[in-house]
Amino acid sequence: MNTEELLKILACPRCKGDLTLVGSDSAAPDGFVCETCGVVYPVHEDIPVMLIEEAVPKADWDAGKRTVK
Ligand SMILES: [Zn+2]
Repeated sequence: MNTEELLKILACPRCKGDLTLVGSDSAAPDGFVCETCGVVYPVHEDIPVMLIEEAVPKADWDAGKRTVK
């Protein structure tokens, strides 16, 4: 499944809103961001982690954090 197909299917689990990808390679994004919630859902080993408790705050993501722990 490619990233464009994923973007059509995926929605923010919190607000059900649209996501945009983050990362320099659109074919292999680093994560999916919900601008409404201000969080990034990371991609681990090509699998998007669409869990509210795993979402990284956008500010932390921009500071280099890739996990909430
Ligand atoms: Zn959201």
